[in-house]
Amino acid sequence: MIPVREKLACITLDMEADHGDHQTRVRLLENPEFYERYIAIVNQYAVKVTMFTVTSLFEDFGQKFKELSKRIPLELAPHSHRHDPYRACSPEEIAAAKEAFLKHVGTAPLGYRAPIGRIDKEGLAHLMDYGYRYDASLYPSMRPGEFGYFNLHMPNVPFRIMRGEAELIEFPFTSISTVRIVFGLSYVKLLGWRLYSLLLDIFGLPDVVVSLSHPYDFYTHLTADGLSGAEKFALLRNAPHGFDYFEKMIVALKKRGYQFLFLSELYQRTQNRTSLKTIRWENWR
Ligand SMILES: [Zn+2]
Repeated sequence: MIPVREKLACITLDMEADHGDHQTRVRLLENPEFYERYIAIVNQYAVKVTMFTVTSLFEDFGQKFKELSKRIPLELAPHSHRHDPYRACSPEEIAAAKEAFLKHVGTAPLGYRAPIGRIDKEGLAHLMDYGYRYDASLYPSMRPGEFGYFNLHMPNVPFRIMRGEAELIEFPFTSISTVRIVFGLSYVKLLGWRLYSLLLDIFGLPDVVVSLSHPYDFYTHLTADGLSGAEKFALLRNAPHGFDYFEKMIVALKKRGYQFLFLSELYQRTQNRTSLKTIRWENWR
């Protein structure tokens, strides 16, 4: 008998203030049209959403998060406390995020996502020290610029990081195999669905997928005033197609036989897998 490959997908939403905007607004939650459209797509395909939430937003948006959790299958996890790219994984941010999460959600967070992929060796150590069990911050791809990275040597599938006896599972942002283009809404918009879906067909995805989206990916044309240059150009590509492309990404996963689950469930299903590659923390680079 041929063993059936288990295909698992987590749809993640990084809940943060709209990018490029000077006010702390999240139009996905505030605009009824966007809000309902998001809910409709998630429910139509029985998707489970893991929402990495900037924990300082609990003060203003805590009630909205509660309302959203009554409308869709929703799990929360911290996305730093203040979304400061210069302190993305500092001990203060990691501790403050844990404290705020405990206060508002009532349980200790299982995992963490650093702002804009800014996780490093020290940050991973802090996460272990504060009792986090997984991290979901690594882009196994490359990007130029001040906040750029070059991570093509990193796995495109979950792996274990060990420091002494302590361990953490890393869930990288899944990228299209070989070409390492992130399976994220902003990347789909940048390339356009025709090209993106062609690359998906040719190169495929790994059996475990952790996707990426932000509220502003759904309506970048409304928030890009504060941006400039190449970033503005990139973010405005296909801006009105945010919802359509989000739906196409979900359909693409369904068609390929993925089942949707929360990241905590993915963690439970993968943490003991002997097939996970282990990277010693000392060797992280
Ligand atoms: Zn973010």
